[in-house]
Amino acid sequence: MTAGNGLMAGKRGLVMGVANDRSIAWGIAKAVAAEGAELAFTYPNESMAKRVKPLAEQLGSNIVLECDVASDASIDAAFAGIAELWDRLDFLVHAIAFSDREELKGQYLDTSRRNFALTLDISCYSFTAVCQRAARMMSAGGSLITLTYYGAERVMPHYNVMGVAKAALESAVRYLAAELGPKGIRVHAISPGPLATRAASGIPEFDELLDKAKAKAPARSLVSIEDVGVATAFLAHDAARLITGETLYIDGGYHIID
Ligand code: NAD
Repeated sequence: MTAGNGLMAGKRGLVMGVANDRSIAWGIAKAVAAEGAELAFTYPNESMAKRVKPLAEQLGSNIVLECDVASDASIDAAFAGIAELWDRLDFLVHAIAFSDREELKGQYLDTSRRNFALTLDISCYSFTAVCQRAARMMSAGGSLITLTYYGAERVMPHYNVMGVAKAALESAVRYLAAELGPKGIRVHAISPGPLATRAASGIPEFDELLDKAKAKAPARSLVSIEDVGVATAFLAHDAARLITGETLYIDGGYHIID
């Protein structure tokens, strides 16, 4: 997919999870906007609004709605806001995760019940919750895309309960893909290699993860948010209409190497 050919002109997408210009969601938003897609954005609380609104404006969007995915009422309000402006949705990007960073410092064994529930709620269940609402706006089909990480499959230092949440998320993607496929709705997880974002700053010794990723990946390169963006744009495009339920690695091939 070459940037800037208007391949997604006429498509409408909701991007959830932009925190700043290093966010993976921002890389995706730039890629789909470059192909002509019209975008709406969400932010979790008022203090994030002032960061997200100027970024949305850069891509010509003034649809920026509050949505704390921990709250069904907040998700309902956000989708009601979108439905007032748009009669359909073509794609949704869910780039949201959260865990208590104190618990990522120690062992998985010490995970508290409270943080297990919180991490699974925000980082996994919330994708199902937003898919419920988004699917109702996809009567002409569409795609639902979330972000995962290799720590779902293999034990990664300090990824801890987030790895458990991502494993559940990847499974949820397959169930959702099976159920929504007959409606022409495709569901995917994208699994990028490590990226130095705000969320990643909560993972201890993240720099070592970056060094290892670069040394071990066949491409001998770290991925960028732009790399994740173009791959996501492809999955959201009609050309990918018969691809669903995938976990797509954008990691320079890291996952194939022992
Ligand atoms: P980021 O900090 O830029 O994005 C995380 C987003 O989650 C933020 O926008 C934050 O506002 C949002 N969020 C947290 N709690 C929320 C809530 N209750 N309601 C609504 N939004 C909430 O970091 P990122 O690395 O771009 O993370 C995006 C996704 O990519 C996450 O799912 C993350 O696990 C995944 N991922 C990241 C990496 C990496 O190395 N950075 C690798 C693979 C996958």
